[in-house]
This record gives sequence, structure tokens and C-alpha cells, in this order.
Amino acid sequence: MQHPQVEAFAGQEGLIRVVGHRGARGLMPENTLEGFGFTLACGVRLLEFDVVMTRDNVPVITHNHRLTGSIVRDREGAWLRGAEPKVSDLDWADLSQLDVGGLDGSSAYGQRFPDQAFLSGVGIPRLRDLCRLVAQPEYEDVHLMLEIKSDPDKMKDAQVRAGIVAAVVAELRKMGLTERTLMHSFDWNLLAECSAQAPEMPTSYLTQLPENADDIGEDSATNASPELTVDNPPDLICAAGGALWCPYYLDVTAQAVARAQTLGLRVAVWTVNEVAEIDRMIALGVDAIITDFPGRVQHRLLAHGLGWAG
Ligand code: MG
Repeated sequence: MQHPQVEAFAGQEGLIRVVGHRGARGLMPENTLEGFGFTLACGVRLLEFDVVMTRDNVPVITHNHRLTGSIVRDREGAWLRGAEPKVSDLDWADLSQLDVGGLDGSSAYGQRFPDQAFLSGVGIPRLRDLCRLVAQPEYEDVHLMLEIKSDPDKMKDAQVRAGIVAAVVAELRKMGLTERTLMHSFDWNLLAECSAQAPEMPTSYLTQLPENADDIGEDSATNASPELTVDNPPDLICAAGGALWCPYYLDVTAQAVARAQTLGLRVAVWTVNEVAEIDRMIALGVDAIITDFPGRVQHRLLAHGLGWAG
């Protein structure tokens, strides 16, 4: 099956794509409509974001399975302290009361993003809210890299998996966005379920080698994949029917990128924020760079005589 949205993530002669990671996490609160709006205003048309399910089966856009004290405030502005409840144990009505517009600068996570704007009165969006935004006519060229976060406690449960995929697919179909969306995950079983339920949406396989450290202050990737090496993901992903390979930037080698592209996969690397690493990815000829700092990547592409849209 041909997937027109894969072309939106494909590099071309003179062109490497820029994907806004959780919007533009380096500068704006992550996974918020404000952050997505900012990213779109920067001329970046590809948005990466994370989806988790609430207890009442509403797909919401947030990264961690548990509410995180470094990000979450109540309506009065008090930081969440003590127990960090699971999103899947809360209803949308509970979540809609929370403010995720700023990071606690005293937390380890907050210290990673000192340039992020501090906003108040910013809620966790539902998938539906982002769909409504990008369904507007001025955003018809916007494409979505929709990451489904598998609940580590439930990822062996095929029925749970099918339910999550069904809820996400229903939202996208209702808004007419399936042809502008890639399904993206570390959970290869979940991606297989996506392909079964919604073959019109291509799949994007995230990988991270175990030897490369996790990022401070956030949930680590919950992998469900074959055993990975530096070299084997392209062949495994091709065999699984994937359209994109999304390796962690520290794992990437020139040989593996070349192998993936030979197999017809597109390569989108994450999360590339430092100038030297951005330059290294440009030299490797990846298709797309997923970044917390879209403007920084734009400037490096321009310095190399490259563009990001077209
Ligand atoms: Mg993600």
C-alpha cells in the first residue's frame, strides 16, 4: 500500500526534514497546544508527540505514564508532590484540572530545559484537541508522528493493546487525519496492531540500544522488540513492514543508515539537540531530524545549504 504521508518525512536532494519533538520542548512546554502552535509558527510542519490513555479511554497527549512532579501543578499553581498517580487511573475530568505549562526549575528534569518558557493555565491536551488544530485549512500540510506509549504494566495484554489502537484510530478517522499520520512506537507488537486495524497509516519503529543511557527525569522507553544490535534494526523493521526507522542518535552509524535507505526505509533520528550532533546527522544523510530545538536545526541546515520543507 502506498502511504503519501511517508513522503512528508522523506529527505530529498537538498532537503532534510525537521520534526518538532513534543512540539519544541527546548523552548515551550512539551506536548501542549501552545508548544505545537509555536512549532507550526516556526515553519515546522512535522509534529512528534506522545499519547497515553486515561481510565475513561480518552487518548491524551503526555509523555509519562505517571503524572510527574517536575511538570504538573494544580489549578492554584502548587506543584504535584508525593505520590505520582498513573494517567490510566485518572479520568479526563481529573486531568483537565492540571497545569503543565512550566517545569519546576529545581528538578533534575527542569534543569535540562532552562530556556523553556514558563506558562500558566496550560492543560494536557486530548488527541482530539491537536487534531482540531491541525484540521484547520492553514495546516493542511502538517503531518503527525503519533507515538503511542505502551503501559509497561499492561503491554503483554493484547486486548488492552487493541483497545488503545482502536481509540486512537477512531479519533484520527473522525477528523480525516489518517493520511497525515504515522504511527510511531517502541512497542513493535503495538505497531503490528496498528497496521492490522489501520493499514492506511504507515508505521514508524523507534529503537534505542540498551547500552545508551536513558534521559534524566522521564520514563524510559518500554521496548517490545526483537533483540537489537547496532546493525540489525533496518532488516528487522523492513521484515516487520515498517516505513520509518527512528533510532536514538547515539546509536546511529553510516552503515546502518545506508542499509535502511537501501531497503526503502526512511530514517528519522531522535532527539538531536546539540549543534555537533545535528551536523553529524546531516553528514549521515538521514531523512529527518527530531529535535527539541527546531530553529537550531533549521540554522544548521541553512549553514549546509539545505532546506527542510518542499
Ligand atoms: Mg515521543
